[in-house]
Amino acid sequence: MRLLHYASRPDALRVPVDRVSVVASHALTEEPYEVDVATVPARIRKSELSARPGWFLHPGWVDLQVNGFNGHDLNRADLDTTTCLQVARELWREGVTGFLATLITAPTAQVRASLRTLAGAMRAPGEASTSLLGIHLEGPWISDRDGARGAHPAEHTVDPDIRLFDALQDAAEGAIRLVTLAPERPGSIAFIRALRARGVQVALGHTLASRDEFRAAVAAGATLSTHLGNGLPATLPRHHNPLLEQLANDGLAATVIFDGHHLSPALTHVTLRSKGIDRLVMVSDSVSVAHLPAGEYETAVGERVRVETSGRVSLGDTGYLAGSGSSLLDCVCFARQSLGLPWPTIARLAGTHPARYVQGRRGTTRSWTLIREREAGAVEVAATVVEGRVVHVNEAVWNEKQRSR
Ligand SMILES: [Zn+2]
Repeated sequence: MRLLHYASRPDALRVPVDRVSVVASHALTEEPYEVDVATVPARIRKSELSARPGWFLHPGWVDLQVNGFNGHDLNRADLDTTTCLQVARELWREGVTGFLATLITAPTAQVRASLRTLAGAMRAPGEASTSLLGIHLEGPWISDRDGARGAHPAEHTVDPDIRLFDALQDAAEGAIRLVTLAPERPGSIAFIRALRARGVQVALGHTLASRDEFRAAVAAGATLSTHLGNGLPATLPRHHNPLLEQLANDGLAATVIFDGHHLSPALTHVTLRSKGIDRLVMVSDSVSVAHLPAGEYETAVGERVRVETSGRVSLGDTGYLAGSGSSLLDCVCFARQSLGLPWPTIARLAGTHPARYVQGRRGTTRSWTLIREREAGAVEVAATVVEGRVVHVNEAVWNEKQRSR
């Protein structure tokens, strides 16, 4: 039997060639597609045959908010190229074909150094750099108030200053694609206009802005709320609060963390209803301890975080969420199993909608996530294809397919 060797994988997986093709249903259009991941580039084309039940081909999943994963931390002070590329490889197993490396508020010198490292990683040869679609800068232009700032250190938050942004974008070699800021900080509105003029997307988050401030930010070009429903104090005024204002503002799409921890069932329902699917983007907001065993860990900035068996990640003894312990795949499973969302909807939330925010740099039209669903919500990634290259094949899924033939 001829074995296929995937050289891009560090563990050099070998899969029998005759097993790695299937007719899957396109998750958006529901048309049958023949998918063969034994070829380079992968052969993916419409088929006359009917799709095999439980197999779905998604436009590549894109995660706009990744702080780290499985022990690899993009926010550590001494970030290196290996870590950046390893996060990309880890995410292939989760079906993620592209992501924005997300840097949170930190001392300026550290942020600048990390941006240089990320820019270098994006230039590195190989497929891993292709998955690095750019950088999401979450801070330092956010609220310094407890609750709103979340796990961001208050002392390093600052008022917007386009000269600082330009210096950071310079260090990043133009790779900063998205900035999350709090529009109540002085100078925000002119700053948002300047970012948009530079082709950078603006999201609002970790904010206590008023109705008028949100409206002014949207008029200036902000289009997105970051992890809506989070980055907020535990208690809010019942009518006039930043959560309701963002839910009510039709100029704002929103990223949501569908991990079962970041939104209550009621808030999930209200968010789906008020934003509508067209204005929602699924993100993981995964942190370095995501997918590590339950226990206590010390982060690179010296904070103690607790990972629970459910995957919930909280900060020290505060109980506050400190990013998420989930991948985009976990969020997809939650959306499918607990929210009962249909595949065309999930394909938009995890694939085509986030891709809108990274268009223009590296296209995602040749990136695919092939999944197998045994029962509602029991989803496995069968293969991940980045820019036509097969970067991940889940041997167990294909062997199982062979047995069930
Ligand atoms: Zn955040």
